Amino acid sequence: MSSTGEGVWAAPGRLNLIGEHTDYNDGFVMPFALPHTTVATVSRRDDGVLRLTSTDMDGGPVELRVDDLAPGGPGGWTDYPAGVVWALRDAGHRVGGADIHYESTVPTGAGLSSSAAIEVVTALALNDLYELGLERWRMARLCQRAENVYVGAPTGIMDQTASACCTEGHALYLDTRDLSQRQVPFDLAAHGLELLVVDTRVKHAHSDGEYGKRRAGCEAGAAALGVTALRDVPYDSLEEALGRLEDPEVRSLVRHIVTENHRVERVIAHLEAGEVRAIGPVLTEGHASLRDDFRVSCRELDLVVDTALSAGALGARMTGGGFGGSAIVLTETSASPLVAKSVEEAFAAASLEQPRVFTAVPSAGARRLS
Ligand code: ADP
Ligand code: MG
Repeated sequence: MSSTGEGVWAAPGRLNLIGEHTDYNDGFVMPFALPHTTVATVSRRDDGVLRLTSTDMDGGPVELRVDDLAPGGPGGWTDYPAGVVWALRDAGHRVGGADIHYESTVPTGAGLSSSAAIEVVTALALNDLYELGLERWRMARLCQRAENVYVGAPTGIMDQTASACCTEGHALYLDTRDLSQRQVPFDLAAHGLELLVVDTRVKHAHSDGEYGKRRAGCEAGAAALGVTALRDVPYDSLEEALGRLEDPEVRSLVRHIVTENHRVERVIAHLEAGEVRAIGPVLTEGHASLRDDFRVSCRELDLVVDTALSAGALGARMTGGGFGGSAIVLTETSASPLVAKSVEEAFAAASLEQPRVFTAVPSAGARRLS
């Protein structure tokens, strides 16, 4: 396809600053958008054909009839955009065919949510071209439905909302129960700070089963405490709630979720007061809670956090589901090269593959480029 479609749109990948494993407990999350984006060049077609190509995937164009789209399709990367078209049409929106070409700088499968980026850029382009008038949060919902039902991946609402709704220089506070949201100032450069992302490049194989166990443990905790979700346990009554739980494992899971929701609120308070450095220790506390109470860290993530803190970082924690993936490190810009070098040296000394380190600049959400 030519690079001159009717228009060009972009949607970013994301990172979660704080609020881990809280989304399936009706809790709070705080993602921000990365400068890495998936760009879609799109033209409408009047023959009802969806023709998909991607610079990042082998193989020629894939052509699908929009009338024939249904969950349980062929599988593969085209399920993500095809699922979005299906979800839009299934919700009653009049979307016809399109030529769509994708090109992305969001690494796939690295925990930065390339899946949400390709979904959201598709929804935004079709919303504009077919004049659907959808609000951003509603597009995010439909993209989540595409991923849950069409692709078959049981993900929460954070990733799509982040890609659709984040703004430059802000983190997005999202209440995953009622989907209310707030833009919280998070302009690191203005404060002489930098947030490093350290992708450990490891993904421990048992992560899916462990995720299921944590989820079930949280549900058991909520049931034992007689609440709809752990979000309903106030931080002030945590000790009393823990005293009512028999199972030590459930108790630890509950303690993480309740303190983590509280940490999101503490981070918001610091950022809104302009005290960006003060979030460092809160991030580090969050890591300790994920490591000791929720038990989803791993040797490589702990090594990043411990090394970065020893090298003078202000705070550090694993981000994402755990058992591998990335850690984030808050540091003075002046100390950033030393922190990065220390982490790389620690990985070399431990005979681990070199991590990928980059700086995350809180960036804009999905947008039309031309
Ligand atoms: P993550 O969202 O963490 O990057 P996922 O496994 O959820 O990992 O989604 C990655 C999948 O999304 C890829 O394997 C591919 O099927 C699809 N995808 C993402 N970006 C693109 C792209 N630019 N072109 C084609 N497919 C893509
Ligand atoms: Mg994904």
